[in-house]
Amino acid sequence: MSVFAYTPPRDALSKVRRRATQWRAARPAKLQFEQPLLSICFDDFPVSACEEGARILEAHGARGTFYAAAGMAATDGPCGRNFSAPDITRLLNAGHEIGCHTFEHADCARRPTFESLRSFAKNRDTLNEMGAREPARSLAYPYGETTYTLKKGLPPRFYSARGVLPGVNVGRVDLAQLRAHALFGEGWRARMNGALKRAAKRKGWVIAFTHDIAEAPSPWGTRGQDLDALLKQAHALGFIVLPVTAALERRLP
Ligand SMILES: [Zn+2]
Repeated sequence: MSVFAYTPPRDALSKVRRRATQWRAARPAKLQFEQPLLSICFDDFPVSACEEGARILEAHGARGTFYAAAGMAATDGPCGRNFSAPDITRLLNAGHEIGCHTFEHADCARRPTFESLRSFAKNRDTLNEMGAREPARSLAYPYGETTYTLKKGLPPRFYSARGVLPGVNVGRVDLAQLRAHALFGEGWRARMNGALKRAAKRKGWVIAFTHDIAEAPSPWGTRGQDLDALLKQAHALGFIVLPVTAALERRLP
């Protein structure tokens, strides 16, 4: 069964709720950095992300954040085969971050808060059995879907949670719903270019996310050469590329 067979509701009311949730900050913070930052995230995540994606990042001296939904481990999805236990150990040994993406890739806007919290805990315990050495410090909501109640009730172990609405994280932000840019979909390069330029000027933090990395990626994935070009561009603009939690730790007091 493919989890991508599910898509969150797209009716007008859901869209309004989604916007309202993004704008209602549960963990307001003011972020400032000494230099612009870029974080590359791989959601779910497919084997090609931890092989090809990690290799490309490492070739640039960079590391990424891999948001794991442990319930999808070792299954086949529309982005290819998903990670298994040895990938967790290998990524951690190389200095990458493992984040939480719920256990079963749940739409957190369409279930009781308690069930989402239980899913985070189940994911933590399963990833621990798979070799994760400590509980995830960062969370990414599947489909970017959440509620104000959930944002407000996040376990304190999560230093940040990430959505999928675009924007540069600098100045006033919501640490319970950081903004992120997709590295796929119509026109992503232009949007990413714009975000990098704005962030370079304001010393902001750009979070980018994708799924598979391949020559011919899925509609939710990115070509390796495009990821490579993005990292080159970010470097030329003075960005440092860090996993999400390491980037957040660079915030100025
Ligand atoms: Zn996902």
